[in-house]
Amino acid sequence: MDYKQELQQFFGERCLLAEPMALHSTYRTGGPAEAYVCPASQEEWSFVLKLAQTYQIPLHILGYGSNILVGSKGVQGIVCATARMNAISADSTHIKAQAGAALDHVCQTACRLGLGGMENLSGIPGSVGGAVYMNAGAYGQETFDCLEYFDVIDWQGHPATLRKEEVEHGYRHVAGVENYIILSASFKLSPADPFHLTEERNLTLQKRRDKQPLEYPNAGSVFKRPANDYASRLIDDTGLRGLTVGGAKVSEKHAGFIINFNHATPEDIRELMRQVRQKVQEKHGIALELEQILWGDFAE
Ligand SMILES: Cc1cc2nc3c(=O)[nH]c(=O)nc-3n(C[C@H](O)[C@H](O)[C@H](O)COP(=O)(O)OP(=O)(O)OC[C@H]3O[C@@H](n4cnc5c(N)ncnc54)[C@H](O)[C@@H]3O)c2cc1C
Repeated sequence: MDYKQELQQFFGERCLLAEPMALHSTYRTGGPAEAYVCPASQEEWSFVLKLAQTYQIPLHILGYGSNILVGSKGVQGIVCATARMNAISADSTHIKAQAGAALDHVCQTACRLGLGGMENLSGIPGSVGGAVYMNAGAYGQETFDCLEYFDVIDWQGHPATLRKEEVEHGYRHVAGVENYIILSASFKLSPADPFHLTEERNLTLQKRRDKQPLEYPNAGSVFKRPANDYASRLIDDTGLRGLTVGGAKVSEKHAGFIINFNHATPEDIRELMRQVRQKVQEKHGIALELEQILWGDFAE
């Protein structure tokens, strides 16, 4: 038996082979994952981890695919999506959520319950695990601001709880997080007026609709904010709004975004990223750092 047969035997129809990652990335493009599963329990995670170890198969953890670009030649090994682990619970000061819960759903719940501190994260279309991994943030709030601790397992399956203070973190950076699978996160929030929080949330959602090209597939800001500036301002100032490679375009609405406006290949998007970096470097002498994460193999 090879690893795919073992995986199929264990997960049955829930194991998908040659699964197009275009279906699981907000860019709506990307080649196949050799195998794709959604573990829902500790037992299922343990099985996948052990299998990957036995067969020396690469394992990739997928949240909602809203910050990745997958090459057209696809991803070797097993993609494990967290989507089936999505429980949320709350008390008067905390919300705890499993890694596959939608961050926006957690924000909505917090606002409804009168728990303040994450209302400005509303509308980020990632999972809780992805938000912790990236230290996602917006409009002056970052995931780690209200994070208290997160539960993980390492690649050998050992569980641990990491408290915020123990983990070096900064703007879109969490040191060592790639050594873990994030299972859940607990947020410490402050009691506040639910009506006011919901108003703040709605304002944030409206700002996103006004400023971001949500009508096209994209994966948010392509580059990190450089010191004392904005990537979108530099890209705009370099005259790159509307720059196109194949079906990929620098958004005219928000120059920090690349949109898949016409069946873009992953290679179109990657080439456009390269051109934008090069032109901004030439004009401003600033090397933009990619925020998005490239997965798998790209065609040359
Ligand atoms: C329209 C739009 C707007 C956006 N706006 C913002 C914004 O305002 N601020 C912001 O910060 N981002 C923004 N993003 C980017 C994105 O939503 C965030 O980076 C989000 O946190 C990614 O979460 P995800 O679940 O989609 O992660 P994925 O894209 O699935 O994965 C990203 C990385 O996290 C890892 N990962 C995911 N879950 C786990 C886990 N449970 N354990 C271990 N590793 C894990 C993956 O392996 C991968 O390396 C936006 C994206 C879009 C499409």
